[in-house]
Amino acid sequence: MTSAEIKLSKFLENGIEFSCQMCGDCCRGFKEGEVYLYKEDIVRLANHLRLKGENGLRSFAKQYLKVIKDTLFWKSPEETRGKTYKFNTLGFKFTGDDEHCHFLIDNICTVHEARPFQCRCFPFWKMMVTNKKNLTNYSKKCPGLRLLKGRFYTRSEILEWARKEYKIEKEYFLELKKHNFDIIKVYPFLPKEMVENAKKLS
Ligand code: SF4
Ligand code: SF4
Repeated sequence: MTSAEIKLSKFLENGIEFSCQMCGDCCRGFKEGEVYLYKEDIVRLANHLRLKGENGLRSFAKQYLKVIKDTLFWKSPEETRGKTYKFNTLGFKFTGDDEHCHFLIDNICTVHEARPFQCRCFPFWKMMVTNKKNLTNYSKKCPGLRLLKGRFYTRSEILEWARKEYKIEKEYFLELKKHNFDIIKVYPFLPKEMVENAKKLS
């Protein structure tokens, strides 16, 4: 999809109530997933932890990040058919027996004001708001989505979150594509050992 236009699932047309129930499971990647971060998230979190400049970003990456895989369907305006690309991106390393984000302590986010955009906009990710099946699948994992009570989100608020989320992902993808999917060109502060095993995929 090249357009930022997002077709909201009918289920969300009149808005929904949602409040986090603080179970912390999304901060464990729901046991099988990841927590994605983009450039702005990394800079904001490193600043928050007073890790300054290129060296600060490098030590932040070393301590808290890992290279993970992502996919995106993309069709350039000049193409008749698009394709699904596989590529490298960054996510949180997990820690502990329950594999949780380093910043989750007693089920509380200790970097709440600086948390990544993906954490901020959950559950209004594009893949969730455009597809009821995805939302239903996540409701099996997230008690807040099962309950659907609490803060009311209007249709336009939901769309706004999803648009921003898609824009961040799309901009990262296009920058990476411009650099022939070499993640170190997008994130020059990444320690070499972190990327040497991460194969370039496209
Ligand atoms: S899984 Fe849902 S209820 Fe649990 S912490 Fe995440 S958003 Fe909150
Ligand atoms: S940054 Fe905060 S909200 Fe995001 S995964 Fe870590 S603990 Fe959870």
